[in-house]
Amino acid sequence: MNDSSTTQVGTLYVVATPIGNLKDITLRAIEVLQNCDLVACEDTRHSQRLFQAHNINTKTLALHQHNENHGSTHIINMILGGDNIALISDAGTPLISDPGYPLLQLAHQHKIPVVPIPGPSAMIALLSVAAINTNPFVFHGFLPPKSQQRLTTYQSWQPLVATHVFYESSHRILTSVEQLLEVFGAETQVAMGRELTKTFEQVFRGNAGELLQLIQANRNYQKGEFVLAVQGENSTKSNTINGEQASLALSLKDHLPPKIAAKIVADHFKINKKQVYQFILDPEKND
Ligand code: SAM
Repeated sequence: MNDSSTTQVGTLYVVATPIGNLKDITLRAIEVLQNCDLVACEDTRHSQRLFQAHNINTKTLALHQHNENHGSTHIINMILGGDNIALISDAGTPLISDPGYPLLQLAHQHKIPVVPIPGPSAMIALLSVAAINTNPFVFHGFLPPKSQQRLTTYQSWQPLVATHVFYESSHRILTSVEQLLEVFGAETQVAMGRELTKTFEQVFRGNAGELLQLIQANRNYQKGEFVLAVQGENSTKSNTINGEQASLALSLKDHLPPKIAAKIVADHFKINKKQVYQFILDPEKND
């Protein structure tokens, strides 16, 4: 029997795994998954492909949305008893539209050491190639499944000066993009990642009208896994420039004529030149 006064508490590792391509895993993630006492998986059978690809023979336990509360308590007790346990989901980073929240809350309550092992996430993969302003961006996870609620959700984003990122399923992608167009207009800049890192990966970049045409014209564009980014209504129309843009403008204005400094900043961030120029002339007015 364990003497709890001498048992050293284990560690909970939260490990990101590939979103498609099995090679997209860090060396550290493999090491942790190979050496921990147990891996809590969303679906143990699904994770076997990953385990086989990387020679991971660690015991697994299922932790999914249907057994999360009970399963989390069990895992916490094992860690308190000295086990090192890794949490993974089917794909990408755990807790990003994936299970794990109750487990992390309990770990926090019990002061258990928690170590992130970062890696892939579909939303970050899309943002990294979207050529859409990411400063700031808001991640919404999955939108409500009901059409009317989704419409209301899109409408609620309108006042936000931000890029909106969300996940969408194959059976809703068409209506979702139709509604997007209805609320934000055909000219809104969007990016869509389909099947990222997989064999049929596609990245679309253009406006919402073009995206809708593409999806309507090609049924293949309605299959697979989707992540979308939408440049918020106001992010192109705002009268202000953000901190990063302001800092570059301020450092250039001391060395260059205002018009040239404004052009460099505007080209670099793909923002309105006049707006930057006005900021350079009167930084106080950047509300
Ligand atoms: N935890 C994951 C992450 O970090 O990205 C997300 C899990 S969530 C349950 C699954 C959703 O993420 C999919 O329905 C899809 O919307 C998006 N997704 C996951 N993998 C993707 C991929 N390879 N390409 C595009 N979207 C993907």
